[in-house]
Amino acid sequence: MAKVYYNGDVNDGALAGKRVAVIGYGSQGHAHALNLKESGVEVVVGVRKGASFDKAAADGHVVVSVEEAASSADVVMVLLPDEQQQKVYEAEIRHTLSPGKALVFAHGFNIHFHQVQPPKDVDVFLVAPKGPGHLVRRTFTEGAGVPALFAVYQDVSGNARELALAYAKAIGSARAGVLETTFQEETETDLFGEQAVLCGGLTSLVKAGFETLTEAGYQPEVAYFECLHELKLIVDLMYEDGLSGMRYSISDTAQWGDFVSGPRVIDDRVKQSMKEVLADIQNGKFAKEWILENQANRPQFLAINNREGKHQIEQVGEELRKMMPFVKQKSREAVASGA
Ligand code: NAD
Ligand code: MG
Ligand code: MG
Ligand code: MG
Ligand code: MG
Ligand code: MG
Repeated sequence: MAKVYYNGDVNDGALAGKRVAVIGYGSQGHAHALNLKESGVEVVVGVRKGASFDKAAADGHVVVSVEEAASSADVVMVLLPDEQQQKVYEAEIRHTLSPGKALVFAHGFNIHFHQVQPPKDVDVFLVAPKGPGHLVRRTFTEGAGVPALFAVYQDVSGNARELALAYAKAIGSARAGVLETTFQEETETDLFGEQAVLCGGLTSLVKAGFETLTEAGYQPEVAYFECLHELKLIVDLMYEDGLSGMRYSISDTAQWGDFVSGPRVIDDRVKQSMKEVLADIQNGKFAKEWILENQANRPQFLAINNREGKHQIEQVGEELRKMMPFVKQKSREAVASGA
């Protein structure tokens, strides 16, 4: 079994007296900055002018430009969108890095795929929460946390591991468990997880189910509840108690259907496709296409996003959710993202 670190295993002293610059105040940035601060760490937020800047100021942070924040800090945590990091790093961060400082990420993409090439004389590590930023914040305020991975790419000070663990503890992750990994493993597994299972796999599964029912003449509202809304209830059971715990709660009819039909839907062809997706992550094809897509101003990203927003499941869902005020868009409200 891998070693999992919890609060008691971590030396808080590693962060003592250090100033942390949280660069970016979006999904992860707001959560890290607030959690660090409430853990007693000195925080400065560096972000461009706009909605994120205003939100960080309203949340009570010292907010300055990216360059100013990075210049003044010992630990520089880069929480910009992955596709913006190289540009902002070159213009506003690189020249602020001097020996003794640490450059930190929440995802290994830019280091692993050589978009950011840090100087040799700074510590470089990652602390990657395995969950959305608004939950990194919400669980922290509830006394809990989101598990995280950490990895050291360069350890110049000899303290990089301790610093990474102290950082993970300060954002609440050592309450849930912190695991050591490498930049390669974190980057490849994170990309695979979000593409094949968590985001891509799930949205495509939901749409395929919804379309199958509506194309067979069933009411879209019924299909929405069956294939999207109820998913959360099932996933919560899996989150709390694993697959068996979820199966314990469902009817035996549902469980028998799970056993006989699940593997017919997610069959060997799907697994073969997953292997192809993983290969394209490992060989850099996915990264290259995403980098080029951004350089071209995202024509394909925007076209697909537009088409997806018009899917019938989105229209039906919007109407039905209006009638369920208890289903709030908590994550959208918590973050002034992308601004
Ligand atoms: P985000 O899009 O939510 O927020 C990015 C922030 O950067 C915003 O405050 C935005 O205003 C700011 N920003 C964007 N361009 C800028 C620029 N040119 N100059 C200055 N500021 C700029 O980003 P995010 O989803 O929190 O992702 C941040 C990092 O965390 C990424 O490396 C991502 O892979 C990683 N991560 C994200 C999540 C998640 O929950 N979203 C989970 C794990 C890891
Ligand atoms: Mg992830
Ligand atoms: Mg990711
Ligand atoms: Mg049912
Ligand atoms: Mg049962
Ligand atoms: Mg985002």
